[in-house]
Amino acid sequence: MMLHKLIFLLSILLCSCSLITACVPANRLAGMTAPPDSFSRLKVTYDEKIYDLSGEPIKFLIRNPDDNSGIVYFNMHDNENTSVSAVDSMLTRYTGKFIELQFKGNRWIGGWMNDKKHFWFDPNRIYSDFGIFKTLQSYNSFTPENKKQVRIFSEYILDSLLSDANMIVAVHNNMKGYSIEKYMPDSIFEESAAKIHYDRKNSPHDFFFVNDPTHFEYFKNLGYNAILQSQKPEDDGSLSVYCALKGIPYINVEAKEGHLEIQQKMLEDLQEILKNYRKRD
Ligand SMILES: [Zn+2]
Repeated sequence: MMLHKLIFLLSILLCSCSLITACVPANRLAGMTAPPDSFSRLKVTYDEKIYDLSGEPIKFLIRNPDDNSGIVYFNMHDNENTSVSAVDSMLTRYTGKFIELQFKGNRWIGGWMNDKKHFWFDPNRIYSDFGIFKTLQSYNSFTPENKKQVRIFSEYILDSLLSDANMIVAVHNNMKGYSIEKYMPDSIFEESAAKIHYDRKNSPHDFFFVNDPTHFEYFKNLGYNAILQSQKPEDDGSLSVYCALKGIPYINVEAKEGHLEIQQKMLEDLQEILKNYRKRD
């Protein structure tokens, strides 16, 4: 008798639960039961392109090759790996293409002059004729033929890989030496900066380098270190100078190697700006 009563009471209780469940709006239920972010993860696709630079294969590993958002991230120094991890962590939540140059883990890349002799250059100094000349010379590698090959290579990057960019986000890492302090008055790159915001609470190695004053103000107001490139920067062949000359929106997200969380946060806060550059369907 007691058992029957217990079963009866239990069945009433279960029915009430299902009634309560039925009364809760479906959307609240979904919010209550679904794990966070489970619907916002984007699938990342991969492709690679191999460029034959005078007999040396230069690899471009491309995430989301068919992405048409107009946002293109570019990592061009193969020894700067924190930035690669930082961008990868963004791509599951935000649209964008990511191009990573890979060459033996080195900052510098190159090709063969002949069977025995290699030539070298910095892939972020090749976006002007003068820059190509200077970087080849600094690696003791200048010849007219090498210059021609590097020029063709840089045109491939600009005209094929970056051609559909509404905004180029360069990602770099630095170690000792290079920092925002190099752009301060009486420092080596003073002439390249129109404005600097250096908050000493931050590491001098973590900063944004931009060519648009509104972007500079945005990062400054968030408390980041930031540099606004000068109107007439020295022609060093870098992508930032090329973009300034051509009027291409460009932001460099620079952080110390190993500062993964900081660089991720920088890229996260950058998304507010990227909203204005994403192509609409
Ligand atoms: Zn770099």
